Amino acid sequence: MSGIAIDPVCKMEVKIDQAPAVGEYEGKSYYFCMQGCKDSFLAEPSKYLDSTPPKKGFFNFLKG
Ligand SMILES: [Zn+2]
Repeated sequence: MSGIAIDPVCKMEVKIDQAPAVGEYEGKSYYFCMQGCKDSFLAEPSKYLDSTPPKKGFFNFLKG
């Protein structure tokens, strides 16, 4: 399987088979445009994974 992944940190498109950095979090693989993005992601994964909102009310409250 090949294709394009979105770097969750900077939202850049990353070619999966040429990704400069790959990280795993909760059993899923994430692809990064550079090592620095991977480091940022692994330091605070939840900050970048906003596609799966946690508790509804809390999340809406934060968004204002
Ligand atoms: Zn990046």
